[in-house]
Amino acid sequence: MDRRRKDRKRISRRDFVGKTGLGIAAVAGASAASGLGLAAQQRAASAIPAKWDLEADVVVIGSGACGLPAAIRAADHGASVIVVEANYDVGGHGMINGGQVPLGGGTSAQRKYGIVDSPEILFKDLTDWSVVETNGMPEYRYNDRAVQRALADNEAVAYEFLLENGARFEDRAPGVQGGHAIGISAPRENYARWTRGQSAESPAGSGGTGVYRPLEDSAKKKGVRFLLNYHMDVIYRQTPSSGRVLGVQASYRPRLLPGSATPMQPFRSDAVIAMTEKTVTVRARKAVIIATGGSSSHVHFRRMFDPRLTEEYQVAGEPYSTQDASGELAALAVGATLWGTANQTMERNGAFRKRPVVGAQHIYPEWTPKSPVFPFVRATGLHVSSWADMILVNQVGRRFYNEDADGWPYGTHHGFLDPYIHGDWRNGRRITYKPQNFLDAALAVNEGSQPPDYNAGPIWAIFDADAVVREKWDLSPPATDSLYFFSGRTLAEVAAQVRKNPYQKADMPAGTLEATVARYNAIVDFGYDPDFERPNPKYKIQTPPFYAAWATPVVHDTYAGLRINVKCQVMDFNGEVIPGLYCGGESAGGCSQHGQGRAITQGVIAGKEAALERISS
Ligand SMILES: Cc1cc2nc3c(=O)[nH]c(=O)nc-3n(C[C@H](O)[C@H](O)[C@H](O)COP(=O)(O)OP(=O)(O)OC[C@H]3O[C@@H](n4cnc5c(N)ncnc54)[C@H](O)[C@@H]3O)c2cc1C
Repeated sequence: MDRRRKDRKRISRRDFVGKTGLGIAAVAGASAASGLGLAAQQRAASAIPAKWDLEADVVVIGSGACGLPAAIRAADHGASVIVVEANYDVGGHGMINGGQVPLGGGTSAQRKYGIVDSPEILFKDLTDWSVVETNGMPEYRYNDRAVQRALADNEAVAYEFLLENGARFEDRAPGVQGGHAIGISAPRENYARWTRGQSAESPAGSGGTGVYRPLEDSAKKKGVRFLLNYHMDVIYRQTPSSGRVLGVQASYRPRLLPGSATPMQPFRSDAVIAMTEKTVTVRARKAVIIATGGSSSHVHFRRMFDPRLTEEYQVAGEPYSTQDASGELAALAVGATLWGTANQTMERNGAFRKRPVVGAQHIYPEWTPKSPVFPFVRATGLHVSSWADMILVNQVGRRFYNEDADGWPYGTHHGFLDPYIHGDWRNGRRITYKPQNFLDAALAVNEGSQPPDYNAGPIWAIFDADAVVREKWDLSPPATDSLYFFSGRTLAEVAAQVRKNPYQKADMPAGTLEATVARYNAIVDFGYDPDFERPNPKYKIQTPPFYAAWATPVVHDTYAGLRINVKCQVMDFNGEVIPGLYCGGESAGGCSQHGQGRAITQGVIAGKEAALERISS
């Protein structure tokens, strides 16, 4: 009997066994491991189970943009594969993303449209010290050369892999829309297709579904099995600092809709392993691949890189899936190290974003009631057509920057520099310098900030009844969220209301907000904004009711993670490979690129390399 069939048999037998003593013992292990810091996690990591609940050659943690390709590639190379996924469905941020897929280096799409590119050109692009964004951020300078070499050599392979596994792309020339830090010499952005809106099949109704539902189908056809609703908490290694990685422990964390005891169901339930244990151990005969999507949702973890990012900043992609740093933490406990941390700065191409939606907590993507996660989202928010209709104030009710300003500098992709010459010291002179001060000013409030963390606090859009008419907004539910949107007959009432928001820790003094609005109204009369040079200040805020709507910028990506080598093997503090441990996507370090191109490519690399490992005894 081949190994894959044996695995399936073992899994189905387990499915009917029900709860065992082993499961209960493992629950104790899980609670010791979760949230208790590195030492406890290290102890759990070396408490190797005497018996495993499940096993496969390759165990992939996370089923998103890195995890699904990794699982398929490992299966393509003969491995049996189990994917452990914390969410109720597969796909992670991949499933809900915009579907712009940056892959170059000589893809068939580039060749079809006569675009000259190659691994060598891509590698030079991705390591060019001389390119800086319009805000002065050196886009490629801190990329790890080994990691970029692997990306450059494998991006075209990854694109063909997507086509072979059913991903649907628009038939058009690769472009630049959506490309961040993907190199300047050639257009490299491909556009995935999804036109059917939000539904259980496509929670955000966006292009990512055109890639990741087909990948899910392909993985299942190739024998990959999925353990959904299980959150990996522990990676087992022979000792915390030596030997092979042997498997993982995961705990059952179902997604229950508010007021319901029934777990949310995946769009497709075939190939899903049914388990009843609260905690499950999964042996990896060959390797574990961490594809957990980064650390941006873990407030303490993200503050290692930027202490300004206190709890009020929400993260793109929530509440569909979170980037809770669990992959990084479990790997650190078995000796891994972080890498490329200079890339994790909010100065970078959209890592932190001002979004054109106000009045709701979760504003990226723009959720609708048709999404299965809408009960967690609660409100669609109000889409802003023109920032001229409002002012933006900080937690104490003061304006802080020109409200019309872009939230972030737009990527250094093809066409950004003319001419572009690799490594030319003059490249830095060819940009029009534009500081990214909107976001920096938003993050920099001292007034009202309080111990222990001195949070800068929320940003609020302040407007009046006339603005609601101009924007053609319907304010009735589910447009706005009662804790993220407030109204009052007077500005003083509005200022008092915002204190109800869980992240507004300071009082917004009524007098400050009134003075801010009075001054802004005078600026409108005057026709010039001496405070922030907002061009063409147009509309007074004068007609009650008045409103305050949540407009706090959103953290988007993780750009620093675990140290990996060209094969995506995780490395320790001595620069040695941790045998049997791989990582890719946003949980891996060494990359400045936004998004799924690197995640898919690293999945393709890691899946193959993991499958080629020897079976551990
Ligand atoms: C709204 C939005 C739009 C975007 N648009 C684009 C775009 O157009 N183009 C682009 O290139 N990029 C885009 N991105 C970014 C892109 O989707 C991500 O960079 C990419 O998905 C990262 O891949 P990943 O595999 O690292 O993480 P993910 O795709 O998020 O996958 C991680 C998976 O791991 C699971 N997981 C996490 N921890 C655990 C655990 N402990 N145990 C088990 N499972 C776990 C998560 O639930 C998740 O399913 C967008 C992102 C968002 C949120």
